[in-house]
Amino acid sequence: MVIDLVCKMKIDEEAASYSLNYEGRDYFFCSEGCMEEFTRRPLEYVKSDWPVPT
Ligand SMILES: [Zn+2]
Repeated sequence: MVIDLVCKMKIDEEAASYSLNYEGRDYFFCSEGCMEEFTRRPLEYVKSDWPVPT
């Protein structure tokens, strides 16, 4: 399972219809709307996915 970073919904990546590659990582979305929102402000969302450097 993966998380839709926009709406925080859990998604089965096998069944996900919406995905894109950003900075070498694949991201999955529940809907076209969430995917568009991600492409508008990707950094807002990927920072919650990337581990915080210690
Ligand atoms: Zn979503």
